[in-house]
Amino acid sequence: MVESERALLLESEEPPYPPLRRGEDADIPTCRVSVMVRKRPVSAKEFALKQCDVVTALRDSGHMVVHEPKVSVDMSRRVESSAFAFDGAFGEDSTNDEVYASAVAPLVRLCLEGQGAHATCFAYGQTGSGKTYTMKACYRAVAEELVEGAERCGLSLWVSFYDIYAGKCYDLLSSRKQLSALEDKRGRVRLVGLLETKVKSAREVMTAVERGMACRKTSRTDSNVNSSRSHSIFQVVLRPADAMDSKTPAMSRLSLVDLAGSERGADRGKAVDGKIRQEGAEINKSLLALKECIRALSSSGGGGGVNAVSEGVDPREDLGGDDRHVPFRGSQLTKVLRDAFVGAKSKTVLLAHVAPTSVAAEHTMNTLRYALRLKD
Ligand code: ADP
Ligand code: MG
Repeated sequence: MVESERALLLESEEPPYPPLRRGEDADIPTCRVSVMVRKRPVSAKEFALKQCDVVTALRDSGHMVVHEPKVSVDMSRRVESSAFAFDGAFGEDSTNDEVYASAVAPLVRLCLEGQGAHATCFAYGQTGSGKTYTMKACYRAVAEELVEGAERCGLSLWVSFYDIYAGKCYDLLSSRKQLSALEDKRGRVRLVGLLETKVKSAREVMTAVERGMACRKTSRTDSNVNSSRSHSIFQVVLRPADAMDSKTPAMSRLSLVDLAGSERGADRGKAVDGKIRQEGAEINKSLLALKECIRALSSSGGGGGVNAVSEGVDPREDLGGDDRHVPFRGSQLTKVLRDAFVGAKSKTVLLAHVAPTSVAAEHTMNTLRYALRLKD
């Protein structure tokens, strides 16, 4: 039944749903917030378990459609399809290169072009939906494009990698040393002691990435704690070529954030022990705060990139005081990434990930609803 529904959608001559957001807002490279969704393929294990694929991506119109099998009151079976429209929808046959080109490459260009750019890509979705798979590919592509671009533009690149677990920050390039987040008088949060390493080649960037990812996986003392419960943040800061240390003000900053699994929020309340409940509540809080901050950025004007901002300028001035309405204090994640949500040259892409199977359908619906709310 799902298959015939999908065939109808994919083979229809007329687009089954109209494309989203015509006009100015459809210009993805220039709007402040873009929301895209990627569906991963059915895995061999899911296939062996005969789990049904209930998600269809309509690439041309940017829709993700979920087909939920239902039983009517007269006991007849039917499929209920819900369609969600985004700035981009990638199906199981999409490649990392395609996703990178649409979602992350515009952020890299923004960082190379402009003083004061804060570009951020968030990978959102339940555990197992493909966030890390996409992010890993993006680290590599970013490394190559930024190194080449920095050379061309006379800039130097500095990388850092940290994660946030239960509201605390840990440096993934310094054996998970705990970092303190201190707020300066302008309200900016600085991670004191965060190691920023100057890198000259794509290989050096990838060495740092691999070190950080290995640290994220293995260095937890508590074996219950895994990467799906922390947010990891990989940052590349661009400075003038002759910058000698990380005290030199940044020209622009690109952050790639692999978020904690979004299923925690739904699990809240059912959690068995206090620690897990606390963890789930913390993740829930940060994902809700993130939603509010992205919504605030999205409604603060579509023009992104109009006025250049220098490091010395208080971003509040650039938005005419608008950041009072950005609720970044709601979680450690949004506090640390505050500059991603304020300032005239902030641009954010949220790349939501969904698993294809019926077993995951409830989480898939929750993910799509969350993603949809970011720009309405
Ligand atoms: P998450 O980080 O969201 O928990 P992962 O990135 O670890 O999920 O992906 C879960 C599994 O699915 C991994 O084995 C990964 O290799 C595979 N996978 C995810 N996305 C894709 C994709 N687009 N194509 C092929 N395999 C994928
Ligand atoms: Mg992961």
